Amino acid sequence: MKLHHQHILSLRPFSAEEIALVLDTAESFKEILSRPIRKVPTLRGRSVVTLFYENSTRTRTSFELAAKIMSAEAINMAVAQSSAAKGESLKDTVLTLDAMGVDCIVLRHSSSGAPALAAQHTRGHVINAGDGFHEHPTQALLDLLTMRQQKGQIEGLNVTIVGDLLHSRVARSNVWGLSTLGANVTLCGPHTLLPPEFEQTGARLEPNCDRALDGADVIMMLRLQNERMDGVYLPGVREYSALYGLNARRLAKAKPDAIVMHPGPINRGVEISDEVADGERSVILNQVENGLAVRMALLYLLLGGEE
Ligand code: ASP
Repeated sequence: MKLHHQHILSLRPFSAEEIALVLDTAESFKEILSRPIRKVPTLRGRSVVTLFYENSTRTRTSFELAAKIMSAEAINMAVAQSSAAKGESLKDTVLTLDAMGVDCIVLRHSSSGAPALAAQHTRGHVINAGDGFHEHPTQALLDLLTMRQQKGQIEGLNVTIVGDLLHSRVARSNVWGLSTLGANVTLCGPHTLLPPEFEQTGARLEPNCDRALDGADVIMMLRLQNERMDGVYLPGVREYSALYGLNARRLAKAKPDAIVMHPGPINRGVEISDEVADGERSVILNQVENGLAVRMALLYLLLGGEE
């Protein structure tokens, strides 16, 4: 089976079979990651540019590492030192990269829809590495891989996502993937950060955190996206933490074997306590490890599948 997408802009159009293809391919690449020398020739001669207009630690590094392990030319375009800082538009930047024959642009941007715009101006592939509060499909795929590894299957799992849903591209992509795979999704946050639009996806909206965690198999905590807040959504961070922060007492509301996830970066002491973030139920670093395998799988499926 092949991936029938030229670009990866959203998880919404992915079928259950396509998600399984990505996760199975990622699983098979984990063997390469366990070798003493992590290098395969699979994508030799291909080029991947990471073009990040917003900060990143995990996503950019893992895409760059994934491309390098697979022997592609991996180029990180430092946006602050590029002509973007002189006012060059995204369209002209993408046209320039296309003229150089770049095979894949991995794009992060503060504007929702920027990767879709970029996709109109390249003959290569565009991967959305997070656009505004729209989507972050590769994060959701690594989250789904982590859940599948930890719980065996995703269908029927009770997944509770807590925090700043309004501004979360991670939650939006996860909700599509989880509903396609048949999980029961509960979304929890203060009313101001819990938009009713999510009900259309079949998710349950529950502003009370203790009730939202009751019976959860998977808890996904989200960061407050202060960089996307242009108004007052919360009375204060301390109150938010008291009502929605995950600590050991609150974790006890979930199933005894529930796992705790977080896409990072973590605000320790705000949405999650140290004891939970570093505790035995936390799979936060498994998510990071799976991020590398998932990004290798996506580059392979987009750029290397035919040979
Ligand atoms: N790293 C994720 C993102 O870029 C989550 C976050 O920043 O809170 O969306």
